[in-house]
Amino acid sequence: MPIRCTAQQDESGMGFLLRSATANGLSLHGLRDLAGLSSVRTFWCSDARHFARVLDMPEAELQDLLVDKGKYMGQPSCRLREQPFFRTELLRLRKPQICVDCIHRSGYCKAMWDCRLYTVCHLHRKPMVERCKSCRAPLRWYRPAVDVCQCGAYFRALSEGDWNQDSPEVVVATWIAEHCAEQGRDWCDDSSLPIWMDALSLDGLCTLIQAMGVPVTSNQRVVNSSLASEPVQFWQAVCVRAVERLRTLARSSNPTALAPTTWEGALEGWALATVSRADQQVALKLLREIFRTEIVARFGSQRTALCQMCLFED
Ligand SMILES: [Zn+2]
Ligand SMILES: [Zn+2]
Repeated sequence: MPIRCTAQQDESGMGFLLRSATANGLSLHGLRDLAGLSSVRTFWCSDARHFARVLDMPEAELQDLLVDKGKYMGQPSCRLREQPFFRTELLRLRKPQICVDCIHRSGYCKAMWDCRLYTVCHLHRKPMVERCKSCRAPLRWYRPAVDVCQCGAYFRALSEGDWNQDSPEVVVATWIAEHCAEQGRDWCDDSSLPIWMDALSLDGLCTLIQAMGVPVTSNQRVVNSSLASEPVQFWQAVCVRAVERLRTLARSSNPTALAPTTWEGALEGWALATVSRADQQVALKLLREIFRTEIVARFGSQRTALCQMCLFED
């Protein structure tokens, strides 16, 4: 390739491939053809060697950029840059979203935009865009350029105005950004939230927000498969409900009051597959305090779910 792009530190792998292709006058399809890959799809870490050859760059560098679909501690997982995820439904790997301001200013796609709960740009405090304002089509990775829709229009913001820095959507987006930048978090300025939140991994944080914010019916049913097709506005509402309930939890002396609105199945799944010991302790604590449920699970073991029992301690 005559023009070799340098990947930005927080760039998305698919975004980098698209940017490298267009810098060389190719489409992503053209780059895929040169790499010898026939199917039109999202590319993973395991595809890095094909593209590294065409782009004349170290394979390891491209492996770091692309999402790794593999196993982590024996369980199916995804790795987005340095962050492991057990719940791939927390990521939007096939349906990209962008911040229009970021993309027009910096010209690349950020990896953290692939987090479903990153619903507002934490820098510009504007909602993430998942559809073209001109043709209304959902964004795709296969498009003429990072900032141009397949209809030929430049991406534009769907609505005007920016959001308050304290709005829950911006708060959650900032947490995700801090995780992705691997900055230490400090909740001291927000004592309204549970103190243990700063110990969570990104997978844990997103799972917690999902469990506290996704609407559940009275018999605790959530149609899991349809969550992936919910629009960005749905996930903004999830952030709002979750932050509000986490604040309630932090000051509550009766956490069981949160049981009807908390997704127990998500907490159980989290307790049985966590990327860190701290995550697991939080998941078990919440099940115990909100639902009076005790799950016996050993961290790092593939043989989890040994037994489950309800506690009636009062
Ligand atoms: Zn932005
Ligand atoms: Zn369009």
